[in-house]
Order: sequence, then C-alpha cells, then structure tokens
Amino acid sequence: MAYVKVPAPAHGCQQPTKCQHLSSSCCCPYSPNGGGFPEWSGSHCSRSRPHCSKDAPHSEYEYASPSMMGDSRKNHRCTLSSSLPVDDSPSRNYLDARHLNGFSEVSPRSSPGRSENLEHGGSKDAHAFMRNSSQVLGEIQCQPCVGDELGKASQMLKDSAASLDQGVGGWPDRQCFRLELEAVRSQLHSLRNHSAISFSKQPQESKRMRREGCSAGLLPNANAASAAAVAAAELHGKRARELSPSFLEDMSSAAEHESSDVAIDEDYEDDDCQTLTDESSSSDSAQGMESPLRMSLFSSVPPYVRFQMPVEGAQGEEATLPPEVRRLLKWKLSPITPLVVRRTLLRSNFRLVKTSSDWSGTWGKHMKSALFTSIKDNQKMNHFPGTFQIGRKDRLWRNLQRLTSKFGQKEFGFMPKTFVLPQDLRLLRQAWEKTCGNERWIIKPPASARGTGIRVVHRWSQIPKKKPLVVQKYIAQPYLINGSKFDLRLYVFVTSVDPLRIYLFDDGLVRFASVKYSNEMSSLGDRYMHLTNYSINKNSAQYKQNEDADACQGHKWTVKALWVYLSEQGVDVTKLWARLEDLVVKTIISGESSIATLIREHVSSRYCCYELFGVDVLLDEYLNPWLLEVNISPSLHSSSPLDQAVKGPLVCNLLNMAGYHIPHKLPSSMQKEFLKTLAPEAKTHQLCLDNRLYYVGLSRDEAAKQLYFTKEAYHREDFLGQILQNLTADDVRHLVQAEDELTQAGGFIRIFPTPYSHRYHQFFEGPRYYNMLFDAWETRYHSNRSPGISLLEDYCKEKYHLNIPALSARAKSSADPDTPTETAEGSRASPVHSSEESDTMPERIFAQSFSRAARPMAQQALLKAKKHHFPCWRRNYCFTALSSRYLKATRARLFQMTKSNSA
Ligand code: ADP
Repeated sequence: MAYVKVPAPAHGCQQPTKCQHLSSSCCCPYSPNGGGFPEWSGSHCSRSRPHCSKDAPHSEYEYASPSMMGDSRKNHRCTLSSSLPVDDSPSRNYLDARHLNGFSEVSPRSSPGRSENLEHGGSKDAHAFMRNSSQVLGEIQCQPCVGDELGKASQMLKDSAASLDQGVGGWPDRQCFRLELEAVRSQLHSLRNHSAISFSKQPQESKRMRREGCSAGLLPNANAASAAAVAAAELHGKRARELSPSFLEDMSSAAEHESSDVAIDEDYEDDDCQTLTDESSSSDSAQGMESPLRMSLFSSVPPYVRFQMPVEGAQGEEATLPPEVRRLLKWKLSPITPLVVRRTLLRSNFRLVKTSSDWSGTWGKHMKSALFTSIKDNQKMNHFPGTFQIGRKDRLWRNLQRLTSKFGQKEFGFMPKTFVLPQDLRLLRQAWEKTCGNERWIIKPPASARGTGIRVVHRWSQIPKKKPLVVQKYIAQPYLINGSKFDLRLYVFVTSVDPLRIYLFDDGLVRFASVKYSNEMSSLGDRYMHLTNYSINKNSAQYKQNEDADACQGHKWTVKALWVYLSEQGVDVTKLWARLEDLVVKTIISGESSIATLIREHVSSRYCCYELFGVDVLLDEYLNPWLLEVNISPSLHSSSPLDQAVKGPLVCNLLNMAGYHIPHKLPSSMQKEFLKTLAPEAKTHQLCLDNRLYYVGLSRDEAAKQLYFTKEAYHREDFLGQILQNLTADDVRHLVQAEDELTQAGGFIRIFPTPYSHRYHQFFEGPRYYNMLFDAWETRYHSNRSPGISLLEDYCKEKYHLNIPALSARAKSSADPDTPTETAEGSRASPVHSSEESDTMPERIFAQSFSRAARPMAQQALLKAKKHHFPCWRRNYCFTALSSRYLKATRARLFQMTKSNSA
C-alpha cells in the first residue's frame, strides 16, 4: 500500500512551521472549525490528507474516511508527517518542474489520457500518481503560491480525480482505489479553500478588510471574513483583490447575518458561480414575454411584478418597465443566490445589486431570528425566523416526538426512530440492547447536509458518545428500482405561517444510489450504496447522468417520471401522493408554533417572508414514506436539463406567488401615469406597494372577533357558519392575498388549507383564528371560487380592505390620498419613516392617551414593555398590534399606575 509523507498543516497539532492560512481559529480545512470535512472531526487536526496505509509506520491518528465505514476502517490509518516527501521520481520531477516553470510542467500522469493507462496498468502507477497529487497540495499549502500555480495545481488534481474515477471500476482492489479517489477529491476541496484564501490573502486590502470587519463588529470572527471573501470571490469568479472593498464588506456582513445554524443543501459548481450582469439580461431573450406587471384580481390592490422564466436563445422585444421603476427593483445578491433565481430576476426587471440597503428582495441563507427585525416593511426574503425548528434534524425529531406522544405513532410516526446524542445516549443503549445489536443505525450530524458526516453502523463502538449527533434507525428494506435505493426530494413552499398556507410542488427529484443495494452487513461502509445524495453519488464511477426529464434512466429522475414508472408497476400513485401530502403538512405543523411566535416577535409586516423547503423522503419496501429531513436551503442548482426542467418553473412560480410589489417611492401622479401606459385595465391608481395590505395590527373589533372565535366558537360547527359573516378589513386583506397567490400557483398544489384540512387543526397548539377563517372559506368556495372572489371584490371596490386601525394609520401608512381609513384625520405619514420619527411617535401617541399626571408612569411602563415584550416596537408596531397577552399585561399595569397616581 502507498504511504506518502506530506507536509502537515500548521495548526499546532503537528506542524511547527508557520501557518499559511488566514482563518483565526484553525485553518485546517479538515479541522472542525476550518470547514472541510466535519465528519472527520476530532480533537486534533488529525485529518490531514488522507494518505492511507494499512500498516503505516508513523501512524498517529486513526482516520476514517466516509468511504471507510464499517469494518474496513480499523485497517486503515492515516499519518501526518511534517517532513517533505522524500519520495521517488514522479513527485521529485514534478517538484522540480514546478520550481522551474510553475505548474505548467506537470507530470504526464495528469493528462486525461492517463485513465486508460490506469485501468490496465494496475495499482503501482496509480499510487505514484496519487503521491504526486498529494505532494502538490502539500507544496501549495506550505508556500505562498500565485494564482496561476493554484489554478494549474487544481487542474492537475482534477485530472487525477478523473483518472482515478475511470480506473476504479477496473481495478482489482476497488476499496483501496476508492479511498485514493476520495483522497484526491478531498485535496481538491482543500485546495479550493486554500486557493480562495490565498487570493484574498495576498492583497493588503483584503487583510485590512478582515481587520476592519472584525473590529467594526461586522464580522463575528476572521473566519467569517475569509468565508465572505471566499464566497465573494467564488461568486464573482474574481480574486478578492479585484473586488472592491465595499463589495467585500457587504459580503462579509452578509456572512455574519447568515447564521449557519443549518447547512445548505447546495452543490455549487462553476456555472452557478458565474456573475450575471444586466447586460446578460438584455441578451437573454424576451420572446413570448408578457406584461412586466401582473394585475391583482381585486380593486385597489397594486400590481405585482411578473416573473418570467428565462428562455434560451429566443429573441424578441423585451417587456421592460420604465427606468424610473426599474431603478427601484433592486435584488440584493447573497453569496448563495442560485443561478436559476438570478436569471429569472434579470428577465423580470430586477437589478442585482451587491451593496444596497434599499433592496426589495434577496435569496440567501437562513439568518438568526433577531436579525429579521432589520427587514423593512417593503423588503422580502426567502426565510421565516425559526424554521431551524424543522430544518435541523435534532429539532425536527423533537418536535415530531412531542406530537407523537400526544397523538400517537399512527399520526406522527413517519420519521424513523431517532436518538439525539449525547442527551439520549441511555435510551439509545436500551433500544440497542433490545434488538441485541442486530439493527442497523445511521448516524448524522444534527445540522448538516449533502450526506456530510453520515455513516451506517451496526456496532455500539462505532457510535461517538459525546459528540452532538442524531442516531436514527436505518430503513434497511427500502423500495428498490432496478436494484438501487432512491429517495425523493419534494419542494414545499410556505407563503404564510399564520394563517398557514402550504404548497407542494407537483414535481421534484428522485435521487438514486449509484451502487446496487445489498443488505449485507459488510456493505454498510459503501456510501454509494446506502446514501442517495447527489453530492456523494456524482463522485461514483458508476454514476450516470440523466438529461431527460421524462426518462426513467440514469441516477436522477424527476418525480413525475417516477409516478409514470410506478403506475406502470401497478402502484396506486394517487394514494402515495396523498400520504406524502399528509407527511408534509404534519411536518410543517410540528414547527408552526415556534415559528409563528418568532414571526410575531421579529417580523413587522406580512409582506416580508416566505420559505421554500426541500423535504427528503425515503420509500420502504411497502411504499411507506419515511421523512428523512427538511432542508431550509434546498439546492436549486440546475446545470442539467433535468434540473432545469424542475427548478426553472419552480422558481418562477414561487416568485410570482410570493407577490413582489414595486417599492413605494414614486409620487402618486407618476404612479398613475405609469399605470395608464403599463396597465390601462388596472383597477387601482397605485402602482407601488401599499403597506396597509400587509399590516399586522388589529382594530378593537377585529381583535374582539378573533377572541370570540378562538375562545368561544372554535368548534367547527360553530365557526363554519359564522366566521364569514361580517368579514373584517383584516379578514378581507388575508383572503385577497391568498386568492391572488393561488392564481400564480402553477405547478404548486395547495395542501393547506383545503376543504379537508380541518382535520389537522387538532395538531396546532391552540385554535388559530385565520386557519378557521380559511377553513370556512375553502369549504364554501373551493369548488367554485367566483362568488368568493366577487364578494371580496365588492369589499375592495369600497377600499374596505385598506382600513387599518386609527393609531396605526399614523404609524404605518403609505396610503393613497383617496382612501378612507379609520383615521380621524385621514393623516398619511410618509411611506418610509425616519428612524427618529418612528422611535418617538408611539411614545407620543401613547402619552397622549394618559392624563398629564399619569404620563411619567405610563412612559415608564412603556419603556419596560419595550424592553421586555415588544421587540418590534421600534419597527412601528402600534399599541393595538401587540399580541393580546402582552397587551393585557401592559394595560393592567398602566391602569394600576394611573389609578394609584390619581389617588
Ligand atoms: P443529509 O442532510 O446530509 O442529506 P439525510 O438525512 O438526507 O442527510 O441522509 C442522507 C442520505 O442517507 C439520504 O439521502 C438517504 O439515502 C440516507 N438515509 C438517511 N437516513 C436514512 C435512514 N433512516 N434509513 C435509510 N437511509 C437513510
């Protein structure tokens, strides 16, 4: 076996030489902090380049690569050595060549034609080849390299991986070569990290950036700065030194905002990282483009921006908005905004901006709940606060477990039995003993994606006891197609949490394992057999692409193609789909309460949030669906025609349903004028967003109605008959939004609310007024929506839906002048308040409600309330908008104070 000495990374573990990396804590890409391969985590930077040897002489750390699960692991050891290789000629030659000519003179072994040779040439060459690659990386990491060299080295490693890839099938010692392949790949990964850091390291500017970022509190630590720089560089295909400081700053601050509580399920590849500019949008064709605006079904509801799918190669006239309007449509780029989203935006009049605070939309990673407070009322982002409640594997299990204990295994037992370590270690031990160790288990990090750190195990000793992990019962008898295991990726779109509106996309992905399934214990270490992640299987030599969305071939199908296949096998697909819908609704409900609470606390307008989830489901041999996990940043990577066929329409439908308005930054006269030309048929004078439509506050009457139905008339027979009588303005606003949204569903099927979804009401933590309202609405109008729409239109013609409580009208209006509101003076504040104004206004109003003597105390109570209960106060929540619990508490306190004061 090959044993290769390479320079160890300098992290204080082994290597005395000075570290070349920039990360503050530990730069090793294999280290727990340094990115790379968390699944190989350990207390040391022990997972250097995996140069394995069964009988390595200097073994210091045991290393188990993902492909070495099971028994094979104990035979393999990985060594670190700080000495440079004193190996034989290939590497030596290579080194010399490198020093002389840079990386251009790489060994002929790296040539693509090499694979053939490898296949027939046996393992000796391959090992030499492998050594060569290892050494390149060692060199790179030990010396300051220039970009070209890194590029070439990267190419060499890529070639090396490709050669090994092709060779794997033909070699006698396959396991060994898979390891080699894995090793090269990991080096590539490491190189990618390293090169990006090197790029950002070289210019002084970047260093300064990091320093300033950290000291200004922009960044939590230098890692984030580096990550931001890396992401920025990757995204824009540039080196960090070519990027402007402001851009880096922006990206760095984005990195800070984007909490990595939950991993992203995304395979970023080169094509996804290319920069799109406005120019590319003009070259993007416009054939068949419809009007750039989409009208609401209702009067006095401003139009929405129409999103259009990019069409390759078509030509025609572009349907654009006037420059004054386009100027306002800014989309803030995040390092992870998928290409398919960017292309759709550019075809839909949006400008992609790097630095701007007045953006209208963004598509990024999930961020910490408190940061949602900073989203303005006219901004929209692709997450709700708190969705980690279902997006983390441990939280998801806990939430479902809670409901299982309440409603039974039959209702909520669709997730394989899971233990969250280290808390559940004792329970796991008991379960383990019950099965006498005959069961298989799968261990996963609680918040990662793409198969990272996942292993199938069957021995107690294989389970790390102290690390945070989930250990899950392994579904050992999956439904197989052509002998291979597969899982389903379903796309679930939640447009609102209270009321809950869930849509399930009618297509999705079927991801196959690339090696045929076997139930043998000895096969448990084969990730290509037991895991179905694309990120893993694409590296397998057996992996076959499928470019055709309708074909049942290769290792990726569309869900629609699977339904056709299963129907041909005599499977009742409708029944299976119904079970999937049931699973999805219950999964979302399991996190509803916590998410809704965080939305109430941190989000100031119903306009601001929506979220797309990727739900992974495995079918067992009886076609029972098992929930594996929920991704809150599902991959929208769409390089292949098959991916494009699913994700293109998905993104377009999704953005249209989300309903983007033009920000309210144009004078009314201009809005009217533009509307006349752009949409003469419009039933409104307002072109721009009207915040009142998404207002979260309630008038007294509205609050009273809600209280009545949630406290007294929550039985279905009671509310069905009554709740639609005397619709409030707030009711109308919700129904109007939902009806407009439904017209854009396209491939999305609404699975909650439906006329039958009332059976799920019992699973909520308490009666939900809006869900009751929608239940009644769907029951009455589901089969024929027109009377319902006409009813709402009658209200809208009267501008009834724009009535918002008097106090709030001052605080939150972007109303049009003709609108009658409940405001006595009909006063209109400017759409975007200055911070001073919004800070002092509630106090002013509040203080006016109390006698002079009571005011100081009222102020005091207000301050306390702000501090403890009302995080959104500064975001213009008016008093009446506060949740009734806090409202009651504060009122009681104020009442007491007033009384004692006057006494
Ligand atoms: P990740 O978020 O890393 O993708 P998953 O939970 O989706 O983690 O698991 C990755 C893969 O492992 C799945 O696609 C599936 O093939 C397999 N897998 C996960 N859990 C189980 C299980 N309980 N039984 C059988 N296979 C599983």
